[in-house]
Amino acid sequence: QTGANDLQTKADRLVQMSICASLARKFPKVTIIGEEELPTDDVTEELIENGHCEEILKKACPAQYTGIKEEELVIWVDPLDGTKEYTEGLLDHVTVLIGIAYGGKAIAGVINQPYYNYEAGAGAVLGRTIWGVLGIGAFGFQLTEAPAGKHIVVTTRSHSSALVNDCIRALNPDSVIRVGGAGNKIIQLIEGKASAYVFASPGCKKWDTCAPEAILHAVGGKITDIHGNSFQYNKEVKHMNSAGVLAALRNYDYYASRIPNNVKQSLVP
Ligand code: AMP
Ligand code: MG
Ligand code: MG
Repeated sequence: QTGANDLQTKADRLVQMSICASLARKFPKVTIIGEEELPTDDVTEELIENGHCEEILKKACPAQYTGIKEEELVIWVDPLDGTKEYTEGLLDHVTVLIGIAYGGKAIAGVINQPYYNYEAGAGAVLGRTIWGVLGIGAFGFQLTEAPAGKHIVVTTRSHSSALVNDCIRALNPDSVIRVGGAGNKIIQLIEGKASAYVFASPGCKKWDTCAPEAILHAVGGKITDIHGNSFQYNKEVKHMNSAGVLAALRNYDYYASRIPNNVKQSLVP
């Protein structure tokens, strides 16, 4: 545990070592930035993943990416997003996030939801993987729009503040969904459960938003900070998304235009 608001479990550490060591072995020139500060050497062989996904390799690489060199990529890894909820047994809030950035932009991402369907009964398949690439699309889920004419806001469950709640109140939503995880909240948007993700607070980091951003943008949505600035994912960038998060699959401009000025003034990028 690194703090009451910022938990770290054995799962966070093992998953990060597995993902980062496996990627580093296969793509030694890529920059990999994981949430947890961990040694990358002495990783046991049983944590190394050698497999690959045939489904992804069947897709043609978009023309604008065919010339990319390995050393130009930055991979942002959140081994376990929604750790607070994980420790409380809200297992379907948990996701594993791997985002790929090129030229400072999130271009591809994977959201794995290891406990998807965990309450669905013995016949259901446990876990799923959602992935997307700009110029190809996003897969592993059914793209669904939120109910038309309704404003359903999804936000943090465990990192609320007066500003977070003031901002949501100003949007006058029909309902508010409070769930853990940035990955999980983007899933709420692309599956039509919520119309906007609004988080007027620092706290969310680049590894929380990179993979979700690539997937949301691949299906025509938009994610920015609360001012409307897009996120940058080059390796030198500050990790903290200090000016919060605003995202929507459709009607992003509606929500952006209703963020109060006092909220914007409180959040410096
Ligand atoms: P949440 O919506 O609260 O689940 O937050 C989304 C991501 O941002 C998670 O990885 C959280 O750990 C992180 N996060 C948000 N707010 C904070 C905070 N105040 N302190 C530490 N981490 C935060
Ligand atoms: Mg996280
Ligand atoms: Mg995490």
